[in-house]
This record gives sequence, structure tokens and C-alpha cells, in this order.
Amino acid sequence: MSILAGVIGDPIGHSRSPRLHGHWLARYGIDGYYVPLHVRAADLDEMLRLLPRLGFAGVNVTIPHKEAVFARADEVTERAGAVGAANTLSFRQGRILADNTDGIGFIENLRQGAPGWRADRPALVLGAGGAARGIVDALLRSGVPRVTLANRTTERAEALAVTCGERVDVIRWEEMPTVLGAQGLLVNATSLGMTRQPPLTLDFDELPTDALVTDIVYTPLETPLLRWAAARGNPIIDGLGMLLHQAVPGFADWFGTTPVVDDALRRAVLS
Ligand code: NAP
Repeated sequence: MSILAGVIGDPIGHSRSPRLHGHWLARYGIDGYYVPLHVRAADLDEMLRLLPRLGFAGVNVTIPHKEAVFARADEVTERAGAVGAANTLSFRQGRILADNTDGIGFIENLRQGAPGWRADRPALVLGAGGAARGIVDALLRSGVPRVTLANRTTERAEALAVTCGERVDVIRWEEMPTVLGAQGLLVNATSLGMTRQPPLTLDFDELPTDALVTDIVYTPLETPLLRWAAARGNPIIDGLGMLLHQAVPGFADWFGTTPVVDDALRRAVLS
């Protein structure tokens, strides 16, 4: 019987996940389908009951359901627990298992895109939204000695830091230039630089030129921050790889094959 999986969200039309998983299904010759499902908040409970009965092995979860599905899960992974939200569900014998793969997707993107990167220097993360939460958790797990967090709304960064332990320092947004000299990694985890959003216009001149610069915004692929960093010689990594890598654990669990992230997948998702 064909294996079924999909992605639930509202809206869902913009999701690149069907193209991503569809590429892997074709590539590995798997008898399966991955479908976008438009699910409104009012229908979420009913859908979570229905999908396993229809034979779905699991689903990805996108805005606005990531916290709601986490709260409804029977079991959560440690990394989902650290974030308080889930983007990957597996249905097993009437139980819902919830995972959050954004952080691991972020780290795997760094490892693949910058094989020389080592988690032995401090990191500066801009932003304190849902994505930043998973990224900070994953950086700490991977051994980064200190994470400095700056967010337009400082209270949101402080709330995030409280759940992350002692290796996270919060600074005010305007203070950011003063800590740059110590960083080995700069992460834009805000939506600044995204199409139809303002660019990130802080002064990054003190950042060491060997620091890795990454932006989790991937529309456009080359954000103003990445263009600036590349021009002064910093190694850079774009945000698309995070999206691709975060999909690996779900695909492996539902379809039984651990897929690779490569240029063919990038092209398929961008086409
Ligand atoms: P979110 O929860 O809405 O958080 C948005 C973040 O951007 C907050 O830190 C917010 O600061 C900041 N921000 C927004 N407008 C700003 C402005 N004008 N000035 C300064 N800061 C501003 O969103 P999210 O889910 O974390 O996603 C953030 C971005 O990452 C989005 O562009 C999303 O598309 C992208 N993303 C990419 C991936 C990937 O796989 N590559 C995965 C997830 C998300 P405040 O707290 O002050 O509002």
C-alpha cells in the first residue's frame, strides 16, 4: 500500500515541502504521496484524529499550528520540548509523536555548507521568534560555548534565554555592534531581508572576516546581509539548506529511507 504523508498549515499554498518530498519520492522510487493539506485551527483536532485513520504515517506542520500540535502530542522529543513547538509529527499505533527539526536542519546546513566550521567559537543570533528558539537550542547542543542573543523586542530574547541555561547572553538590539569582534558565527534569524521586508541595516563592520555568516531567510537566496558578508570575504551560507535539511528526519521516519540533500534537490525546490 502507498505510504501517505503531508504538510498541514493555514495558508498552505506557499509551502515548498510537497516539491521537496516529491523529489525524494521520485528519486528513491518510493510508492508514496506527500500532499499539502489546508487545515484551519478550528479543524486541527479533527484532522489529527482523522489523518492516522486515513493511513497517514505523519505530517509536517507549519504556521499557525506548531505550538498547538506540540500541546496535543502524546510524546515529544527533547529538542521539541526545548522549543515548545513541533514541525514534524509521526502517527504510531494511535499515538502522536512530535519532533522539532528546525534546529538540526540549521546545524546540518552549516556542516554541509561550511565543512570547516567548528562549534568552538561564540555565536551571535539576531531574532527571538520561533525559528531562533530552535537555532539557539541546536547551537548549544552542538557545543557552541556562548550564544549572544539580540532582538528588536528585548523581552522576547530574555524569555527565550531563560529556557536555555547559562550559556546565553541577551543584549539590546542597538548594542549588537559592540559584541561583534568576539563572534565566530553570525545568524540572522529575523525576517529582515526577506522579500517585502526591510533589510537588516545594522553596522557589522567589527565582525571578524573569518566568521561564518548565515541567514535563515531564503527568499531571496542572496539577502543583503549575505551579499555584504561575501563582498568583504566572510564565508556565507544561505537559508535554503536549513529548509531542506529539516525535512530529512520526517522523510526517513515515514518513508523508511534517509534522503540526501544535494544540488539536485536545491534545483527541484527552487524551480
Ligand atoms: P517570527 O516568530 O515571526 O519572528 C520574527 C523575528 O523577526 C522576531 O525576532 C522579530 O522581532 C524579528 N523582526 C521582524 N520584523 C523586524 C523589524 N522590522 N526589525 C527588527 N526585527 C524584526 O518568525 P520565525 O518563524 O522565527 O521566522 C523568521 C524568519 O525565518 C522568516 O523570514 C522565516 O521565513 C524564516 N525561516 C526560515 C526557515 C528555514 O528553513 N530557512 C525556517 C523557519 C523560518 P520582534 O520579536 O521584535 O518582533
